Amino acid sequence: MLNTNIDNPALYGLVQTHLVNIQGYSLTVKTAAAFNQMQQQAAIENIDIQICSAHRTFEKQCSIWNAKAQGKRVLLDLQNHAIDIESLSDNEIVDAILCWSALPGASRHHWGTDIDVFDANQINQQQLKLISDEYLTDGPCGALSSWLQLNAHKFSFYLPYQVDQSGVSPEPWHLSYYPESKQFLTQYDPKNLKLLLSNSNISLKSALINRLDELVERYVYFIADYPIAD
Ligand SMILES: [Zn+2]
Repeated sequence: MLNTNIDNPALYGLVQTHLVNIQGYSLTVKTAAAFNQMQQQAAIENIDIQICSAHRTFEKQCSIWNAKAQGKRVLLDLQNHAIDIESLSDNEIVDAILCWSALPGASRHHWGTDIDVFDANQINQQQLKLISDEYLTDGPCGALSSWLQLNAHKFSFYLPYQVDQSGVSPEPWHLSYYPESKQFLTQYDPKNLKLLLSNSNISLKSALINRLDELVERYVYFIADYPIAD
């Protein structure tokens, strides 16, 4: 069992009591309200913003992690080619997984303030691969992407993964509700993450614990600033 006796368990995906269900996804009350308003505004401009991923629990993120670490789920490189994990060291496997999946306990998707979105007028969720090409100007979510660049801030959302930063892939589909996610980020404590991972059944545990400070710096703290609106 996980040790949930840590401060602010909501920051690490251990509790869902601060979340409400909207359109099948769990979000904080304020994130849900802001999303509803944004969705209505975009609809006027013929863009159907729908969520394809929102809150994820630590347990869920850990099962994704373990499946990739154990070769039960395909691991892709940045060019979308399958990687043979047999040839990699533990540290290399950690890096390869982190190209596409968040470290359990260190995902902004634990908070209920962050969502992945697509334009349901142009592509359905089964077809969506959630890759950058789909969000380029001539891709099915190109119009959505342009619209978000201009309008997301009006609803207090921003895009934390905009450019390739320090090994984190750009995610033009990932929105964060800034008024709350900035608070979560401030309260985030790497000591709690270490405690949590130590008590979990996560694969590659010792490789992760040895590099935890570096990983938290890169994947939790080193993200784009909120663009200040004029
Ligand atoms: Zn995301």
